[in-house]
Amino acid sequence: MNAQRPLVAVYPGSFDPVTRGHEDIARRCLRLADQVVVAVAHTATQKKATLFDVDDRVTMIGEVFADEPRIICTSFQGLLVDFCRSRGAQLVIRGLRAVSDFEYEFQMAQMNQELSDDLETVFLTPDVNYSFISASLVREVARLGGDVSAFVSPPVLRRLRTAFQETP
Ligand code: ADP
Repeated sequence: MNAQRPLVAVYPGSFDPVTRGHEDIARRCLRLADQVVVAVAHTATQKKATLFDVDDRVTMIGEVFADEPRIICTSFQGLLVDFCRSRGAQLVIRGLRAVSDFEYEFQMAQMNQELSDDLETVFLTPDVNYSFISASLVREVARLGGDVSAFVSPPVLRRLRTAFQETP
């Protein structure tokens, strides 16, 4: 490791919306990297209809990590490896919740390794209290009027409430 060069980790995903599980992974990543770039993908890797547009997702992530200057958020288009190169990142961070995440994550990590040999994918596991949370389940529960306050931070909760008040 070069002591002069900050270690930059990119944490990519859809973050529709950012949950406490994502938050936990990004904060854990600060133990490994000097800076974490939470990167909202314009094009989802798995085809999904999104609830929030990319700008709203970036804004929410900025609000959630307002207390932590080493975590920044932006969006990206195109290949993750190209974005990582443009940011001088050496690490890609992904979260692993359960075996069900593994196959897709493993394939993607291997593909990214083929595309760029200077990037390493690092998998982190969340606190056990967050391992069952997924953004899609949070959206679904919120849509049906359930209480998701334990699964997302207050800025996200506010936006979810607004989104589902406006869309009956
Ligand atoms: P994608 O849309 O690329 O599948 P997501 O935005 O859903 O990604 O999540 C981004 C990353 O965060 C993925 O690696 C995913 O496995 C991980 N992740 C999502 N929810 C959690 C959670 N509750 N705990 C740990 N990791 C998570």
